[in-house]
Amino acid sequence: MTARIIDGNVLSARLRGALAAKAAELTAQGTRPCLAVILVGGDPASAVYVRNKVAGCEKAGIQSLKFEYPQDAAPADVLGKIAELNADPSVHGILVQLPLPRQFDEKTVLEAISVEKDVDGFHAENVGRLSQGQEAFVPCTPNGVMEMLKSIEVPLRGAEAVVIGRSNIVGKPMAMLLTAAGATVTVCHSGTRDLNFHTRRADILVAAIGKPKFVTGDMIKPGATVIDVGINRLPDGKLCGDVDFASAQEVAGAITPVPGGVGPMTITMLLANTVESASRVARKG
Ligand code: NAD
Repeated sequence: MTARIIDGNVLSARLRGALAAKAAELTAQGTRPCLAVILVGGDPASAVYVRNKVAGCEKAGIQSLKFEYPQDAAPADVLGKIAELNADPSVHGILVQLPLPRQFDEKTVLEAISVEKDVDGFHAENVGRLSQGQEAFVPCTPNGVMEMLKSIEVPLRGAEAVVIGRSNIVGKPMAMLLTAAGATVTVCHSGTRDLNFHTRRADILVAAIGKPKFVTGDMIKPGATVIDVGINRLPDGKLCGDVDFASAQEVAGAITPVPGGVGPMTITMLLANTVESASRVARKG
C-alpha cells in the first residue's frame, strides 16, 4: 500500500483564499485584521517562522506589525510593548515568537497578552476554555491538524488516536481536540513504556516529538492516518519530520509530508484566528 498524501500546501491555499475574502470584507467594513508579532533574539529558525507568518498575513490582506528586540532585551520592555498592543483597538492578534531568551519567564509573557488577542491560544484562560469546550482561540498547530483530518473525512468518533508528545503547544491541545471530536486518545511521551504497543493500535497517529525519522513503518498500523508535526533540520540542511516518511508511506493509509504538511497549516490557522478576532471586534461594533 502507498499512503495518500495529505498536502498542507494545497489545503492551505484553499483555506487562505477564503480567509483573504473574509479579510477584504472586514476591511471594507472598516476593520482591517491586524496581527502584531514580537520577535526577541536572533534564533534563525524563529526568524524564518516570523518571516513566513508576516508574508502569510500580507498575502491574505491582513496587516502585520513586527517588533524586534535583541537577545539581551529587558523583559520589562517587551511587556510594555504587549501592554501597548493590548490597548490598541486596531490590533486584533498578538503573537510572541517562542522560545524566548533565558531572562524571560515565558508564562509571564504569555499571560500578559490579552485573552481576546491571544491568537496563538497559549494563554491559560484560552487553554482552560478549550478544555471545557467553550469558545476559545485554539492553538494553531493542532487546529491545523484537525483541518487536515477533516479534509480527508477520516472518521474520528470512536477512533483510536495516539499522540506522541505532551507539550503545551502541540501534544496536550492536540489530545483535547481529538477527545472533543470523539476519538479515544492516548498521549505518549518520553516516559512511556513500550511506545510501539500504543502506536501500532492507532487509527490516527500524531507525532510531535522533535526527533528526526523517529516513527518508522513497523510502528504503524496498516491503513492508519499519520500526521507528522515534527520539523527537524538534518546536518545536510534539509528538513525532515518525526516520521520516517519512506517506510511509513508503505504502511499508512494517509500521511502528511515534511515540508509541505502541518507547517503551512499552522500559519493558516494563525491567519484564521486573527481574522476571527477581527470579526469579533467588528460584530461588537
Ligand atoms: P517539545 O520538545 O516541547 O515536546 C516533545 C515531546 O516529545 C515531549 O512531550 C516528550 O515527552 C516527547 N518525547 C521525547 N522523546 C520521546 C520518546 N523517545 N518517546 C516518546 N515521546 C518522546 O516539542 P514540541 O514543541 O511539542 O514540538 C515537537 C516537534 O514539532 C518539533 O520538531 C517542533 O519543531 C515541531 N513543531 C512543528 C510545528 C509546525 O508548525 N509544524 C509547530 C510546533 C512544533
